[in-house]
Amino acid sequence: MKTWINLPKDTDFTIHNLPFGIFSTEHRRKRVGIAIGDQIIDLLKCAELGLFDDFLIYEETFNTSSLNNFISLGKHKWSLIRRYFIKALTDPNSKLKKNKDIILVAQANASMHLPVDIRDYTDFYSSIEHATNVGKMFRDPENALLPNWRHIPVAYHGRASSIIVSGDSVYRPKGQYKPLNHTSPIYGSSLRLDFELETAFIVGKNTTLGESITTINAEDHIFGMVLFNDWSARDIQKWEYVPLGPFLSKNFASSISPWVITTEALEPFRTKGPEQNPEVLPYLKFQGDKNYDIKLDVYLQPHNEEEQLISSSNFKYMYWNMAQQLAHHTVNGCNVNIGDMMGSGTISGQDKNSYGSMLELTWGGKHPIRLKNGITRTFIEDNDTIVFRGKCEKEGVSLGFGEVRTKILASI
Ligand code: MN
Repeated sequence: MKTWINLPKDTDFTIHNLPFGIFSTEHRRKRVGIAIGDQIIDLLKCAELGLFDDFLIYEETFNTSSLNNFISLGKHKWSLIRRYFIKALTDPNSKLKKNKDIILVAQANASMHLPVDIRDYTDFYSSIEHATNVGKMFRDPENALLPNWRHIPVAYHGRASSIIVSGDSVYRPKGQYKPLNHTSPIYGSSLRLDFELETAFIVGKNTTLGESITTINAEDHIFGMVLFNDWSARDIQKWEYVPLGPFLSKNFASSISPWVITTEALEPFRTKGPEQNPEVLPYLKFQGDKNYDIKLDVYLQPHNEEEQLISSSNFKYMYWNMAQQLAHHTVNGCNVNIGDMMGSGTISGQDKNSYGSMLELTWGGKHPIRLKNGITRTFIEDNDTIVFRGKCEKEGVSLGFGEVRTKILASI
């Protein structure tokens, strides 16, 4: 497929991608757009020109500060719009091309915002390598995985109010923790601030209270995916997490990338997940390939230094897949809503260079990472920036997730 738009070499936003996001410009407020190359297609403008009238999709769907209205049109309409743009961007005589000067906005001239209105957010714990590594460090190296782990996609309910978009900074959290040689806890800025390399999916269809999603229809309930950094204060976490799980160690901030990559765009990158052993209960069984081959990279950029690659992982390592996560989340009748966000859990691979957190990369702070110019890191320091990028490539088809970039500022 060849588009008439000039695409920068190695762009994430190829004709195969067409992710949705919310942007604004100096002269016009938040609205819906699609990324292509280094530009944004202004969907509100397209609707104003009547380009979607045949699909019965009008301006109000795009003249809004979140994708929720668009998502609520349903999977059939997401697909119609996607197919419309694939055709219009490859047809040199399209109405879109004739109006290109008014419907295309340079990404450099736009600000990106949170793509969805997230009312509820859940974070899973679905990488067996990550769960094993954390279990070894926090509990017992001999029994790292708790007995329920291979039977339940373990998760905690997170907090939606502190989800931020790429580019927003985070103040180092303060809280209560108990240093190793202390008999009682102290209060102060976290000294063990960490990232968690994750993706998240956005729920695309409501359910009602009492209803359960099955692994068979789960994919109808998923709109798309973003990169997700589940910021974690390990010292606060270690002291507070027993018996109910993380609380203040996690809810001070969570960052996501602004462009939502649709599951339809990810279709060519489906792959098989790890073997699940022992056999799971019937409601968690599934058919077909439910994992995706998404290469995930983590970069650390110290203040006034270049960014440096510190980890390379892959979404395909996930033990529990998104269909199982959604089936489990609703098996008790818990309802989910359009725009809800479900974090994957930290995505670590088997290799040491593929660990998805500083906790694992430095093994609890014991083995600092060595960066250029004599800089070392055990955890994240003030004015460090962490960047995640995601990329899919197969048989000449490629797409990327853009990035989620967050700078850590000193506590206030
Ligand atoms: Mn997490």
